[in-house]
Amino acid sequence: SNPMTNDQLTQWDHDHFFHPSTHLGQFARREIGNRIIKGAEGVHITDREGHTSLDAFAGLYCVNVGYGRTEIADAIAAQAHELAYFHSYAGHGSEASITLSRMVAERAPEGMNHVYFGMSGSDANETNIKLVWYYNNILGRPEKKKIIARWRGYHGSGLMTGSLTGLELFHNKFDLPLSQVVHTQAPYFYRRDDRSMDEAAFTADCVSKLEALIEREGADTIAAFIGEPVLGTGGIVPPPAGYWDAIQAVLKKHDILLIADEVVTGFGRLGTMMGSDHYGLKPDLITIAKGLTSAYAPLSGSIVSDRMWKVLEQGTDENGPLGHGWTYSAHPIGAAAGVANLKLLDSLNLVGNAGTVGAHLNNAMTQALGDHAHVGEIRGEGMLCAVELVKDRDDRVFFDAGDKTGPRVVAAMLDRGVIARAMPQGDTIGFAPPFCLTRDEADHVVSVTKDAIASVL
Ligand code: PLP
Repeated sequence: SNPMTNDQLTQWDHDHFFHPSTHLGQFARREIGNRIIKGAEGVHITDREGHTSLDAFAGLYCVNVGYGRTEIADAIAAQAHELAYFHSYAGHGSEASITLSRMVAERAPEGMNHVYFGMSGSDANETNIKLVWYYNNILGRPEKKKIIARWRGYHGSGLMTGSLTGLELFHNKFDLPLSQVVHTQAPYFYRRDDRSMDEAAFTADCVSKLEALIEREGADTIAAFIGEPVLGTGGIVPPPAGYWDAIQAVLKKHDILLIADEVVTGFGRLGTMMGSDHYGLKPDLITIAKGLTSAYAPLSGSIVSDRMWKVLEQGTDENGPLGHGWTYSAHPIGAAAGVANLKLLDSLNLVGNAGTVGAHLNNAMTQALGDHAHVGEIRGEGMLCAVELVKDRDDRVFFDAGDKTGPRVVAAMLDRGVIARAMPQGDTIGFAPPFCLTRDEADHVVSVTKDAIASVL
């Protein structure tokens, strides 16, 4: 019995609520709907008008353990009652934040044992870049500062992180990227320029483009390379075979640090605890966020290698306390959510489920749509899947952006009760369900996708 009417809420929404990543003009003209979400359970969300949808994108690929987990809600409530907040500056902390740092270190690759906690993936990446710069200053090489990112990478919406992001939408009219950032080729095999290249040749091409960039800029000016193990927002693109081994060899040769942005892949999405485990990455820094709390509370982190940690310690001995902190660093409520979330991942074997049901989803999608005339590629890894739609499959002709093919298919899916995401560039339909998805639910997602494509194309 809520006294607010939908009309009243919608009016306030239009009068006052500045929605992120939204076409403001279309919203004002009410050309895009305002859907007010009321509740959720398992893999389903329900809006205020009572429509229920299967959320095959887990919010923004973050509600990994699924909705409505009382274990996490109870942990948050208990923490709020006991200690809603104290800061973590100057050696302070809470039981929850200390426990969570231990749990993260146990799940991180060998030789990575310290965690700096923030609130969002964006601020964690800002932290990482500052740590890289600090590190090189302490090592006495102040000119080694540029960061290499990839076209189609997504690393956040801040000034630096929006710059690292290799998607024009996040640069246009914001005067980004900043000058310290350089971009290299995306490891996007399906969209390679030269279709005669096989996967091995394309990997070699990515490597030689990276080497040419390092040569052009000068290795002594380049501090770090940042990459998502699997490109996420840029189209859900697993790398071609051999890519990460070859890239890491180049970075090592030129003493360039590796930042693995595991905001999407961290804590199970690829069917392994970390994406770094899956691809044999040996990063110096790992960015974590979404899966750390399954988005029950905002919390992110930067996992720091022992090698970097030693230099950071040396730096503060020489220069005084690290001048980098947020009021909400290691917020106790976020930390309590993180502890409960990671326990649930283990006790319900959700990482294993992400691997097995994710493989089932990818196989079923390939069986249902692999031969479709307008499906160019189906790709995925773990509980990530993408269907790339094309005008002509044989000649690999893409739709025009103005056709809005991806958004139209996603809208047709929503009409049928399934939420997928039209990825920002290209006509790619993205799937990143909660890890508790069942095989039957995966089959349902596939059949709705097929029907929706048939209705649009
Ligand atoms: N890095 C990656 C790989 C992401 O996918 C995202 C968000 O989608 C971010 C960083 C930024 O995280 P946030 O939106 O929490 O700032």
